[in-house]
Amino acid sequence: MVLETYKKKRKFNKTPEPKPVVKKTNLSRFVVQEHHASHLHWDFRLEIDGVLKSWAVPKGVPEKPNIKRLAVQVEDHPVDYLFFEGKIPEGQYGAGTVKIWDQGNFKLYEQTPQLIDFELSGKRLKGNYVLIHTRANQWIIFKKK
Ligand code: MN
Repeated sequence: MVLETYKKKRKFNKTPEPKPVVKKTNLSRFVVQEHHASHLHWDFRLEIDGVLKSWAVPKGVPEKPNIKRLAVQVEDHPVDYLFFEGKIPEGQYGAGTVKIWDQGNFKLYEQTPQLIDFELSGKRLKGNYVLIHTRANQWIIFKKK
């Protein structure tokens, strides 16, 4: 079931995070959240097919071309997570503070199991990006020239 992993990892009477609801829209939005968890990382999420395809990027999504960053795919998140900021309590999955670092829209040019090619129109992130699947849950993200 869609969002089953998201649901299993969380207790919704303890975390302020959005409930696991699939929401199909005709929008293509993205968000980058700065997540001060046990290790600081940035979560990159693309709205596709009623959920947010999600990656944890330890060093952040590059703003300049040709800087390759590891992006670890994590469970799909609900679309309402586009707007989530706040504190995930101690003891809960992903405990720590979440702040929106960038948000906007994207155009999807190509999506295969190996590659996602898209253009971001955010406040900080703008331009053509690609995610390349390397192995297991690991991807590389970079901005194209
Ligand atoms: Mn995270």
